[in-house]
Parts: sequence; structure tokens; C-alpha cells
Amino acid sequence: MTVFDGRGVYGAVAVGKAQLFKRHQTKVRRVSVSKPEQELERLRAAKDAAVRQLSAIHKKARKELGEAGALIFEIHMMMLDDDDFIDTIKDMIRTQRVNAEYAVSSAADSFAKMFSDMEDAYMQARSADVRDISNRLIACLSKGGGSRALPDGKMIICADDLAPSETILLDRSKVTAIVTAFGSANSHTAILAAGMNTPAVIGVGKEFLDAVEDGCLVGVDGHTGEVFVDPDDKTIRHLKQKQSEDSRRYQLLEQLKGKESITLDEKRVSICANIGGECGTDAAIANDADGIGLFRSEFLYLGSEDYPTEEQQFRVYKNVLESMKGKKVVIRTLDIGADKQAGYFGLEKEENPALGFRAIRICLSRPEIFLTQLRALYRASAFGELAIMFPMITSVPEVRQCLDMCEQVRKELKENGIRFDENTELGIMIETPAAAVISDRLAPMVDFFSVGTNDLTQYTLACDRQNERLRPFVDTHHEAILRLIEMSAKNAHENNAWIGICGELAADLTLTEKFLRMGIDEFSVSPPFVLPLREKVRSISLK
Ligand code: PEP
Ligand code: MG
Repeated sequence: MTVFDGRGVYGAVAVGKAQLFKRHQTKVRRVSVSKPEQELERLRAAKDAAVRQLSAIHKKARKELGEAGALIFEIHMMMLDDDDFIDTIKDMIRTQRVNAEYAVSSAADSFAKMFSDMEDAYMQARSADVRDISNRLIACLSKGGGSRALPDGKMIICADDLAPSETILLDRSKVTAIVTAFGSANSHTAILAAGMNTPAVIGVGKEFLDAVEDGCLVGVDGHTGEVFVDPDDKTIRHLKQKQSEDSRRYQLLEQLKGKESITLDEKRVSICANIGGECGTDAAIANDADGIGLFRSEFLYLGSEDYPTEEQQFRVYKNVLESMKGKKVVIRTLDIGADKQAGYFGLEKEENPALGFRAIRICLSRPEIFLTQLRALYRASAFGELAIMFPMITSVPEVRQCLDMCEQVRKELKENGIRFDENTELGIMIETPAAAVISDRLAPMVDFFSVGTNDLTQYTLACDRQNERLRPFVDTHHEAILRLIEMSAKNAHENNAWIGICGELAADLTLTEKFLRMGIDEFSVSPPFVLPLREKVRSISLK
């Protein structure tokens, strides 16, 4: 038996026969051409064919995975239409007089490298998407498009990496798990695999491909990220036991759907979901969240090549609000900077990005960006129960400026006769020690607080959250952090504001009772944690 470690992207277990994923690969050679116009014409025809294929895949994804899964292929179609990408290919054909396949492959190399060199993990993962669309274009140029060899029979798919379109084209009724040697947890493949409810482990390393062969037994533990090639009897028994525990637990959690998030002594709380985009609402609804407690709006900016317009943002916010059908949706305004960078913001490199020009500091320094977002948010407020939240607050003047800008937007909308909800709640994140310490001053200014324990922990313990080496020094239960939360809760309630927690600590079931005793009104967690947390809340009595 050989054991490999990777990243589990969907927490479930499978044992089964391996099937190596094989694909038709077209070898690309550089060929000099005398008639570049013919190559440009071939490129145009190949692009049309690729768009047709992608729209069929998009349809399949929408049927099987909903809007969330399908969105990836919409992005692929947009990438195929991207002027920078297509013009680079055309220029190369014209100036270097080379064949279209070679030009596509070279342009893809440089675009993929540009993405993989970015600091932000989300953007790095986009290089796989560039490869996926360029392989499709090359296949279409050589008339091989869509003829990838897909394996047959019930199996655990073992691959070097899987492109998103390869993942969606897998026959779900035959695939019991997915293991890839490469790829990141942020890749769209990982997101798709999770959406397919298929046990999946990503990035187990290239040695895995040498150890595994068609038909050999493989065990996959999506909880721990372990993959066992030729597992021994003891491991198989252990995995099978985990599998039956998973299904028992799954059934138990299913019974909690539709039930209230209420303690034994009848204290009601909200258990909401954290989402990173429009597509997250599917998972929030599937897990019966009481609302959205944190919509990280920056993903809209990160997934785009230029500032998203008011109209684009409005459509996304409106869709999220309408999908949640009257349940509260807390949308956090732009929290970019630090580990989340978008090139077009032109932000300078900083010595200490986590302590740098980020989030509300950018918004208040560049009001045109902030006002565009606030207008989109207020316009969307007419379509559901919106609350707006400001990140990285440290002072009273910052909150004052945010509220003034909201007032300015409301006034403008009123003057223009545009509908919005006057009662849209306004709140701030408590994610700096400064905000917690002066929470008595901040609470009277807002309707709610939401504690961002991820940043509150990094700033309180002076431990960069990106630095893996600091893990032994990060005590998430540190008394200083808990005291800051308790102090904020007390000050919120004394000023008629409510308080939630939306950082990772909200899902820590060992702290649920403590948080309830502090008076936390809302917990916002990633969608799979909603039902386990509801189960925990329902088992606690505060009397
Ligand atoms: C937090 O800091 O806890 C938080 C929820 O925000 P983010 O993780 O997006 O910084
Ligand atoms: Mg934060």
C-alpha cells in the first residue's frame, strides 16, 4: 500500500478501481506559412466551433450543477472572446507568419504564465482555464475537438490534472471519486468536483501517477486528503466504516433542514452562509442557510479584467437577493488588497500588505470606486433584504465617512426617482483590535457588527494569516480574541445593534456555547457547516 497526501476538496470517502484519464493530445509544431490570411480564417472557424462546443457544455453544466457550475463555462466563452488573447494570436500569425495552432499555443503559454505568476491564489488558478480553452481551440483547428477519450465503467478517475470541461464531461453515474496529481484547491476543477458531490483529492504529487495503474484498487479520503493505492485490508475496513458514518451523518443532517436554529431553552439565532459570488447561493440554499451573512464582493472584482460597472454589480447583487427570497443578505463592500490583488487597481507593492492599503482604506481614498459599488448595492436593495457591511474598520471617522457616502448615494437615487430600500441595514466588520476596543463608540453609529475572526486573529496575535510557519503560534481560542469578541457583543447590545461572527471561528463547534453565552445573534459559516452548527445549537441549553 502507498499513501499520498493532497487537498480534499469534497469531504467524502470512496474505495474503487482506478481508471487513468487519457486524452487525445494534439502535438503542436511551428510551421511557417505563406498565406497568413488563410490561418486567420482557420482561427475564426475554430473559434466559432469552440464557442459552439462550450455552449453545449454550458447547457449540460447548468442542467447537472445549476448556475454555479455553469458559470465557469460562461467565463471560458468570454475568455475566448477576450481581445487581448485573440489579438495576440492574430498578431503572431501576421507578423511571424506561423500556423494558427502554434500561435494559439504560444499565446496560451504567456497568458497562463501571467496568471500563474500572480500573487493571488484565485488568479493563479485561472492559468488552468487558459490551458483548457487553448487546448479546445487547438483541437478544433486540427478537427479533433470534443473527441477526448473518456473512460468507461464505475471508477476512480486518476489524472495528472483535469480541465474544467473534462471534469464536467465525466459521466457522474460512473465516477466514484477524482484524484489529480496536480491542480490547486482554488481551481475550477476543484470547485466543480465539490459541486458534483464527488469525493475528490487534488494535488497528490506526480509520484502518484507512477504508482497507480488501470484497475488497481484505490481508496480516497476526501476529509483528510489521503489517497491509498493498493490499500491493505485494515485501511479498506477503516474507509468503509467512514463511508457508512458519512451516510448516517448525512441523513441526520438532512432532517435538520427546515428546522429552526434555536437552543433547547429557546434562544433563536441565525445560521447563515458565507459566499464568494452569485453562484454561492445554490450551496447556501441547498444547506438551508437562514440567509447570507457574508458575501465577499471582492470576488466580483478579482474575476474581472477591469472595474466591474455599476450595472454589472447591480445585476449580481439583485440576483443574489432574489435567489435568497427575502432572507437577509449581508454584502460586504470591496475588501481588496493584501492577499487579494487585481492588476487593474494598480496598487503598489508593499512591505507589509496585510498592514497596508486595503479594503475600506482603498474605498475611502478612491471614492469613485466606492460610490459605484454603493449605488449598485442600494439599487439592488429594492429586490430583497439587503444589509451593507464595511470591512477593516479601525476608527470613528472611517465609519462616519462610509455613512456619509451612503447618505450621498441615497440622496442621488431619490432625486433620480430610483427605487431602493431606505431601511437597508448598515454594519461594520470587527476585525481589527482597534474596532473591538472602541466598539462602544462604533456601535451607536451602525445597525450591526460582524466579527471577522480571521483578521481579528492575525492582528491580535500579530501572526500573518498567510504564513504557514506561524501555525504553531496561532491559538484561535486565545483569551485576547475571545475577550475582544465578548466586549464587542456587550457594546453592540447596549446600543441596540446585533452582532454576528463571519470568520472561520464561527464554525468551531467547541466555541458555540461560549459564543451563545456572549449573546452572538448570528453565525455565518461556509455552506457545508450550516447544518452541523444548527445541530450543535439545538443541543445546547444556556440555562
Ligand atoms: C475575516 O477576516 O474573518 C473575514 C471574514 O474576512 P476575510 O476572511 O475575507 O478577510
Ligand atoms: Mg477579513
